[in-house]
This record gives sequence, C-alpha cells and structure tokens, in this order.
Amino acid sequence: MIFRLAIPTPLFHYFDYIAPENININQLKPGVRVRVPWRKSEAVGILLSTSPSSEVDIKKLKNIIKILDEIPLFPNSLLSLIQFSSNYYHHPIGEVFAAAMPTLLRQGKPADYRQHAGLFETMPEIPPVLTPSQEEAVQKILEVPNSFQAFLLFGITGSGKTEVYLQVIDNILKQNKQALVLVPEIGLTPQTILRFQQRFRVPIAVLHSGLTDRERHNAWLQALNGDARIIIGTRSAIFTPMKNPGVIIVDEEHDTSFKQQEGLRYSARDLSIVRAQLEHIPVVLGSATPSFESLHNVKSKRYQLLELPERAGNAVHPVFHLIDLRKQPTLHGLSSILINHIQKHLDQNSQVLIFLNRRGFSPTLICHQCGWIANCKRCDARMTLHQQPFHLQCHHCGASRSVDKVCLDCGAQNLFSLGAGTERIEEALQEHFPKIKIIRIDRDTTRKKGSLEDKLGEIHAGEPCILVGTQMLAKGHHFSEVNLSVILNADSGLFSTDFRGVERTAQLILQVAGRSGRMEKPGEVILQTYHPEHILLRVLLEQGYHQFAELALKERESAGFPPYQFLALIRAESARIGDSMGFLFEIKELLNNFKNNKILILGPIPAAMQKKAGKHRAQLLLQSSQRKLLKNNLNYLIENLSQLKHKSRVRWSIDVDPVEML
Ligand code: ADP
Ligand code: ZN
Ligand code: ZN
Repeated sequence: MIFRLAIPTPLFHYFDYIAPENININQLKPGVRVRVPWRKSEAVGILLSTSPSSEVDIKKLKNIIKILDEIPLFPNSLLSLIQFSSNYYHHPIGEVFAAAMPTLLRQGKPADYRQHAGLFETMPEIPPVLTPSQEEAVQKILEVPNSFQAFLLFGITGSGKTEVYLQVIDNILKQNKQALVLVPEIGLTPQTILRFQQRFRVPIAVLHSGLTDRERHNAWLQALNGDARIIIGTRSAIFTPMKNPGVIIVDEEHDTSFKQQEGLRYSARDLSIVRAQLEHIPVVLGSATPSFESLHNVKSKRYQLLELPERAGNAVHPVFHLIDLRKQPTLHGLSSILINHIQKHLDQNSQVLIFLNRRGFSPTLICHQCGWIANCKRCDARMTLHQQPFHLQCHHCGASRSVDKVCLDCGAQNLFSLGAGTERIEEALQEHFPKIKIIRIDRDTTRKKGSLEDKLGEIHAGEPCILVGTQMLAKGHHFSEVNLSVILNADSGLFSTDFRGVERTAQLILQVAGRSGRMEKPGEVILQTYHPEHILLRVLLEQGYHQFAELALKERESAGFPPYQFLALIRAESARIGDSMGFLFEIKELLNNFKNNKILILGPIPAAMQKKAGKHRAQLLLQSSQRKLLKNNLNYLIENLSQLKHKSRVRWSIDVDPVEML
C-alpha cells in the first residue's frame, strides 16, 4: 500500500511513502500527521489518501517514520476543502495545509490541549422577540436540516442581523452542533465576543491573528474535538476543523479582509460556500452593503435572499447632505458649511464623527521653488509627513526618515505640506473648537495596547466630542451618541482605476452612515464632494444601495468584469522591471500557444505603483466568461513552468478572483 502525503513545500504535487512493518497501518487514516524523511532531514506530512500503486518506482519510496496523531486532525470535509483550495487557487497543496494549521501542529508538536475552562457565573441574557422578518429569516435558515443552502441576509446597520445569527446559533447548539462565525479583521472587537458570551453558556473559541501560538493551538483543537461550540474568527478560521458543524455565518461579507492578499490568495467568504456544501449545512452571508458577487448570486438563484427591511432596535435611515466643494472655500479640507453643521450638533450635546481615509499630517511635502516632492526611495510613492513624532513615512513599505529641511533638487529652504491627513484635521478642528475634546482613532494613535479601548471608553461615556479617524472608526463599532457623520472626501474611490472603486465607495459611505443615529432620531450624514452630480452617488443616496448596485452592475456587465466574467491576475516582481515584464511576456506567449484558447490575455503592464519596497512589479490579466478556461490555462502554465527562462529571477504569484487590481 502506498501512502500519499502533502508536505509543506512550494511544489505542486503529492509525495508517496510506504509504511514499515512496525507501523500499524490501521492508524494511517486520511488527515493524520506523519513524520517522514525529507531530503537530508525530516518533515511533517499530512496523509491524504492511500493507493495501490505509485508513479514513482516503488523501490525508491521511503518509509514513514512515525504516526503523530491518533485521530485525524483534518476531518474528510476539511481535507476536501483544502484540496479544493489548492486546485482553485493554483497553490501548492503542502502550502495550503501549512496556511490552514496552527504553527505548533505544523512543527509536529503533539495534538494535546487544555480544555475550555467553561465557568459561567451569570445567567444568560434573555433574547428579544424577533420582528416578523427576523423570524422568517431564522425559519428559512433552519428549514432544511443537514443540507446545504446559501443565504444572503441583507439589512441596514441596526436592522437586527446579529440577532438573527444569535437565534440561529441557539437552535444549532440545541441540536448539539457547532457554529462557525467569520468576521472581518477589524470587526473582531471585544464587544463582538461579549455579545456571544452574554447570550450563550457554551465554550467559545476565538481565532484571530493576535493569538500566541499556544492559544491558537488550543482553540483549534477545542473546535476539532467539539469542545468549543461556537468558533468566532477572522479569515483563516474558515480552515478550523469541527467535530459536528451546524452552520457557518459570514458577517460583513463584503469586507475585503476576507480575501488574503499574499501566499494562498483565498477568499474566506467564497470558501465558506464550498465548505458549507461539503458539510451539508446552511451558510449565511450578512451585510448592509452586499458585495456585487453575492447580489449576482441571488439573481442567479444560487443564494436565497433574506431581507430585514424593518427597524429593529436602532436602525433608522440617516439623512444625507452633499456639500459641493467646488462652491466652497475649504481650509485643510474643512468647508465653512461643514464647520457650522458640526457646531450645531455639538450645541445639541451630540458627538460628531469625521472620516478620512488617510492617516498622518499631510500626504505631500513639496518645494515652493521648483515643485520637487519628497518621495520614498524604495517606492513610486510620496512620503507622508507625520507630526507626532515629526518624521516622513512611506505608507506602502514602512520606510521612514527625518523630515527634509531643504529641497533635495534645488536646495531651497521653502518646503511646505499639501493636503490633509487625520493629524492635520485633528489640529484644524481643535482650532475651530478649542473647548471640545477631539478623539483621533487611527493606526498611529492606537498602537499601544489598550489605547483603542481607552478611547472607545471615552466615546461611550457620551460627552459631546469630535471623533476623527480612518477605517478603524468606520467599521464595527456602534456609537450611540454620534448624530452626525462626515466623509471629508467622498470622491477618492469614485474615479479609481480599480473597477471595484465605486462599489467600495458606496459600501464605505453607508458604513460610515451606519455609525450615527440614536434610538429614536435619524442621524445626519454629510459628504463633501467635487462631483455632487455623479449619477451613482445620486442613486445611492436617493434610492438606496440596491438600486445603486443594479445600475453599477450594468456597467460591470458591459465592461466584461466580475461577476459577469472571471479574472486571474498574474503578478511578478524583481529587481528590474525588464525581468518582471519579460517573465510575463513569456507566460503570455506560452498561453497563446495553448490550443483552443479563447481567453483574453491583457498585458503585461507595469503595476500602477511600479516600484514598491525596492521591487519592480508588473502584471498580466487573464479574463474569461468561463472559469474552466481560466483554470485550464493556469494548469497549463504550472505544468510548463520549467520552460520559462526568467523564472529564477522573479517572485511571482497567481491571484484567482483578485480583489485588488493595482
Ligand atoms: P445588525 O447586526 O443588523 O447591525 P443587531 O442585531 O446588532 O443589528 O441589532 C441592533 C440592535 O437592535 C441591538 O441592540 C439589538 O439588541 C437590537 N435588536 C435586534 N433585534 C431586536 C428585536 N427583535 N427586538 C428588540 N431589539 C432588537
Ligand atoms: Zn526645489
Ligand atoms: Zn516606500
């Protein structure tokens, strides 16, 4: 008997081994780890399957050294998911396993773990009575037990989506099953976890990037052994084994953090559908601003739509105002109308939230004499000026240096900063409102452990104040005293070269809008824009997200973009742009010679930011209306990699269903 293993290497195939007589082959079940000889040393492999024969000469096969697990670490459905991921994303199987498992297990450490302490002192919270539409959603999700169905739960912030999840999970727990809940990176706050802990008296495993190796190891094994009944985690939690899965929930399914942007470039949202199919369970994708992909899947009847149109708790549609910046003088990006509005809300003892997607003091340091701009030496990008502490920093590669005192081109001492980031907005607002507390939340002010919690605590204390911040402020939190939300620059994504720019902008606008509004009173949202007549912006604000998406999807269809056609992006980077481009030209030629080829091959072109962290980047886009054709091409590419002469000079990757195109 031949044992077929996955071993963590960048090679695209399996490795066959045999078992010596002292090993009990009955213990060699798929999903167990084994220690094997590997090159001049040893490796930890995962057993995938057995086979009566091998493509390799049997005499050359080596013996398994040791079986590391009594029970498989990977149940069959999870093995299938991992194999699917390897095929779909064209990533080496061994590296997919490596990405899927905790470090200690990868290193071959024993799969023993601490049981969940499970001490519950307080009584569980009593759930509210569901509204009719919530009730219907819960019923539908639980309707057909032990079978797959995907649902899109669509409702504005505060419409009661989380309550639907909680009551579905309650039912699943009563059936003795487990629930897997995926949340965006920024959404996994202590408040989120608390909400589950207050409702349920069951062990909850939490999986996120901030855990120690040992914590991750424990949580993972608690899930595998059925000890943890609810598993809440970010992206990579989609690979958590479960003894008895009952439902998968993906909250804020449109969030781009569900897509991994390096290594195995998977979408946890998309894999949640595959996993639910393999497990024969329902999967619920929830959002106030669903991704166009998911809306399209509703249209084509692959997902069932569940809408929460009514108000539960504190969902009130906010009132939008546009400020036309063309007619307004601004100082540091703040128009005088805006200042008056902020004053009005502060006078009413409310809090005000100001969103700007740019941290630092100013994005540009420029010479008054000759126009020279302080750039990063390693990227095709400007250095951002920071005041606290005073330095220049590149937001793309992290490089920093002291602030130039003279122009590096003409030597003039006349340098000034152009444009505003959150630091400057904070300063400018403090000048306008000297007596008001300004709380800034961005990566710079929350670096210290506990500082975010401190700031959130101050906000929740409820005194009138102004919150200034980036994405960190826009997502996940609910601020009950905020009654005005402001987006300082609503245009930044509208004219992006990325075809998803308008979708992202709309999602962001509604996300920021969702932060404001009290129990009874609708909040106010102000967008500053140079394009108040922009048709998509108008439709979004006047008719809502659904109509906006209909219109924007038509543009996608005529342009041949997803979800109507499928994309794969091949990226290459190296010390010289010639090598990166040369490599991609070779691929293009290779694929052009692939018979029956009907896909569109666009490029190669240098990336929008060609130089990043000292590397020169280029990309080649493959486009097709049929996934299968893309897949065939990529398989053909991988089979013929050894032909490519530039291969050793570049780092390269395949990105199937890319979400970042730049
Ligand atoms: P979402 O997840 O859509 O933002 P939540 O489920 O968090 O909405 O609900 C918003 C608020 O309304 C929460 O405070 C929640 O406890 C409350 N809520 C949700 N459903 C109900 C209901 N049926 N009756 C009363 N309050 C509810
Ligand atoms: Zn100069
Ligand atoms: Zn840089």
